[in-house]
Amino acid sequence: MIVVMQPGATQEQIQAVIDRVAEFGFQTKLAPGAERMVIGVVGSPLPDTLKEALERLPGVEEVIRVSKRYKLVSREFYPLDTVIQVRDVTIGGNEVVVIAGPCSVENERQIIETARAVKAAGASMLRGGAFKPRTSPYEFRGLGEQGLKLLAKARQETGLPIVTEVLSAQHVDLVAEYADVLQIGARNCQNYLLLEAVGRAKKPVLLKRGMAVQIEEWLLAAEYIVAQGNEQVILCERGIRTFETFTRNTLDLNAVPAVKHLSHLPIIVDPSHGTGRWFMVPAMMLAAVAAGADGLIVEVHPNPDHALSDGAQSLTPENFAAVMSKLAAVARAVGRSLRGVATAEPSLSPAD
Ligand code: PEP
Ligand code: MN
Repeated sequence: MIVVMQPGATQEQIQAVIDRVAEFGFQTKLAPGAERMVIGVVGSPLPDTLKEALERLPGVEEVIRVSKRYKLVSREFYPLDTVIQVRDVTIGGNEVVVIAGPCSVENERQIIETARAVKAAGASMLRGGAFKPRTSPYEFRGLGEQGLKLLAKARQETGLPIVTEVLSAQHVDLVAEYADVLQIGARNCQNYLLLEAVGRAKKPVLLKRGMAVQIEEWLLAAEYIVAQGNEQVILCERGIRTFETFTRNTLDLNAVPAVKHLSHLPIIVDPSHGTGRWFMVPAMMLAAVAAGADGLIVEVHPNPDHALSDGAQSLTPENFAAVMSKLAAVARAVGRSLRGVATAEPSLSPAD
């Protein structure tokens, strides 16, 4: 439910709404707009008596029930953009943020070398899987806690916050001890008990879209997390399964403007899993930012041919660095900037 205040409603009138909601045992979330204040009411089920009580208060223009099945993550409920802070990195603001690193943490040298390289090229965070969901149980499934320790070491060396996957509810506390962002992989997008477990954690969550998950289902998955009290959810489009076999998945860039329209949560794009082919990754990085993504998560490996997972879709550090300056130009063309990469101001001087 949202309470739309009249333009010019006073601070006292706003406070009276907050107090009345609290008397009913519910909480509020304020969205101050340029014209008027919108007050979201958090709770379920919200009784009609509350709606009627709020409608009677001075300064209230309208009380509207959120029409979507997902409530807290909807833009109807919170018309502004949610901005998420991860150490010194802001996601969902004007700056486009790039997260880069290997699919899996393999050994100390590999993760430290990659962390240094992606940082030098302008990446703002380091990715790397320690607990890997693998289609075959016989493939490399990650180093587990040892991998988390190596990520922490890479963070210490470079200052880059780390993003890593949590595979099961029983591992949430362990992974949260090391990670700055908890990644929920595509295969777990609708693992509702895991979503609730990360909803109780005090860390931002990167929620990948499942490979056969519709946008509404994905937002409902995010709702599971936010409903537990964790509002720090970053959505990640990583490609969906279609009839196409040339690419590993079909990167659904439609999801970017769709999610921006439907939800206040930030959305980033993973062109590595979205294509499965490294040579396509740079083009889709640029396209994602042009489409309005708040960031990217990209697989980079110092020696993709020898990667223990996802080498075919991993950029070399050189290829990654090459696309970053183009990405800064695209970000600029759509009115944003790329965190970590300075672009020269276009000069008006005739000498140029
Ligand atoms: C990954 O990020 O390496 C990964 C396993 O991604 P997804 O869950 O999108 O397949
Ligand atoms: Mn991968």
